[in-house]
Amino acid sequence: MSKLDFNNTQQAFAYKSNSELIRDYQIFRLISLSWLVKFGTKAAASLIHAGVKTPVAMGMKPTVYATFCGGNTLTEASKKINNLHNYHVQCVLDYGVEGKDSESDFIRTENAIKEAILFATHNPAVSIVCSKFTGLIPFSILEKLHAQTALSDDEHAVFQKSKARIYSIAQLAADNNISLFVDAEESWIQKPLDDLTYELMAKFNKEKPIIYNTIQFYRKDRLAFLKQEVARAKVDGFIYAVKLVRGAYMEKEATRAAQLNYENPIQNSKEHTDADYNDGLRYAIENIEHTAICVATHNELSTQLAIDLMQEKSLANNHTHIHFSQLYGMSDNITFNVAAAGYNTHKYLPYGPVKDVIPYLIRRAEENTSVAGQMGRELKLLKSEVKRRKLFVL
Ligand SMILES: Cc1cc2nc3c(=O)[nH]c(=O)nc-3n(C[C@H](O)[C@H](O)[C@H](O)COP(=O)(O)OP(=O)(O)OC[C@H]3O[C@@H](n4cnc5c(N)ncnc54)[C@H](O)[C@@H]3O)c2cc1C
Repeated sequence: MSKLDFNNTQQAFAYKSNSELIRDYQIFRLISLSWLVKFGTKAAASLIHAGVKTPVAMGMKPTVYATFCGGNTLTEASKKINNLHNYHVQCVLDYGVEGKDSESDFIRTENAIKEAILFATHNPAVSIVCSKFTGLIPFSILEKLHAQTALSDDEHAVFQKSKARIYSIAQLAADNNISLFVDAEESWIQKPLDDLTYELMAKFNKEKPIIYNTIQFYRKDRLAFLKQEVARAKVDGFIYAVKLVRGAYMEKEATRAAQLNYENPIQNSKEHTDADYNDGLRYAIENIEHTAICVATHNELSTQLAIDLMQEKSLANNHTHIHFSQLYGMSDNITFNVAAAGYNTHKYLPYGPVKDVIPYLIRRAEENTSVAGQMGRELKLLKSEVKRRKLFVL
């Protein structure tokens, strides 16, 4: 079995200029200070709550925003998109605006996703667009559907409108041969998201994977869910396409379960999450004729496992049903080393107005300080590349 060298920092950071490397090194040094992240995110959240978005955005634009996001618009993001493509890395376009709930916001999100699909159609550096259905359906309606509470007539009408909107996005993606990733969100709204995504897959994934659901293996029930859905899709005659993640809302899930006094749906330990993630990978790759996967992780062991499993099955490195993906600004040591070995590789690239992407940036900072080892690893890799290039940093 050939092993990838995830410590090859020359390969990992070749796409960064010296000044970008130094900027990112400084940003990760700051983010590694958990007290600073706690203070900074609280201060940013309070300022935003008080309606003071502009100074927060101004502070973020040349710093964390530049490290983790593409730009205000697709045109602005093009420089980063094309730069990644020079290193055989494609982009998953992620219109990063979150937490909106009005009809005008939904129209804006629909237009942005459609614009991204059309942009991808004319750009070989992009073949996937990502969507969060909470940007298109009111959260309160999803909560009711999940709890199987009856919708009022008005709510029913709103839901039908949202569904029509999502179908027209999916149709545009299918017509242009662009894949659409549907993100997984909180467990208490996930069932209607899974149901709707299944419906879309049944319509659009007959020949090839167009619509991808997401499964979060930090949930105790998701490995069984994956197996059940793949078996169902086999019977219904389509490719079950899925992005495999560990899950991003662990603390929120635990807090809600404790408050409402139900069993926390999250695994009892990181080891349990890792075991289910890896078993999910094994199951999907064993059934690769009927599934398509995006190995969406910053975990080196899971990435190497996917590669080993592909080799065991003698699958081509660029098999059309298997993709690897990391978030922009993170785990370049995985992305660029995997891409250099000829595997289909993507960066999730959020873009959009700075003030609207702030919740994403806050989550990134919080998530990273709470994930043991992650920050230390990023910092160590950046530091060794700074040293290798003999750059002077204060
Ligand atoms: C391309 C891409 C797309 C993504 N899309 C989504 C999405 O749609 N929805 C979503 O929720 N997340 C998404 N994520 C985020 C993802 O779920 C993880 O939060 C993040 O990637 C960290 O997990 P890891 O596999 O990269 O790495 P690791 O560092 O190996 O794992 C960290 C993760 O393990 C889990 N974990 C940590 N401690 C414990 C514990 N004590 N008990 C149980 N589990 C634990 C948590 O999920 C934590 O995030 C995405 C990530 C990527 C790279």
